[in-house]
Amino acid sequence: MLLTARLAKALQLTLAVVKPDGMAHPLVLEALHQKILDNSFVIVKCKDLAWKKQDSEKFYVEHAGRFFYQRLVEFMSSGPMRAYVLAREDAVSHWRELMGPTKVFRAIYTSPASLRGQFGLTDTRNTTHGSDSMESARREIGFFFPEFSVEAWMQQEEPAFRA
Ligand code: ADP
Repeated sequence: MLLTARLAKALQLTLAVVKPDGMAHPLVLEALHQKILDNSFVIVKCKDLAWKKQDSEKFYVEHAGRFFYQRLVEFMSSGPMRAYVLAREDAVSHWRELMGPTKVFRAIYTSPASLRGQFGLTDTRNTTHGSDSMESARREIGFFFPEFSVEAWMQQEEPAFRA
């Protein structure tokens, strides 16, 4: 099959998250699911969750001290989120492309069909998160799904994608 042949090239996992503003918007989940289907991602894991402020601080520790950090931390612990582990060839960069640039004005002008371009409200309330490298994906998947092993999944499931 064409899809399985393509996945066999460079199967990756990535983390995608609908942020609290996206969960509150009536159209974001539908648009996101459509992008998942249209782009042949496989949903490996999915769950709804809500962060405490400490979770938010820990996840975004690399931004500690930046002018938007407190705003970001408060926002990310302000309501429910939905997290996905997605599989596909080049999943990391492909999901980033569908999500659009971080800053909303840039997303609107350069990628109006992206999730952030369509639904982003501000540079902080920008609808979705997506891992920015394979290394980040591994770490972030572990943060959201501590019971899930990327290595074990790759060993057990990758051969099935090749079949
Ligand atoms: P991305 O989410 O695109 O990987 P970053 O890792 O740089 O972007 O930033 C993490 C999150 O912090 C962004 O998604 C956004 O919610 C917030 N953020 C980043 N830059 C800014 C900014 N200049 N002003 C306000 N919020 C920002």
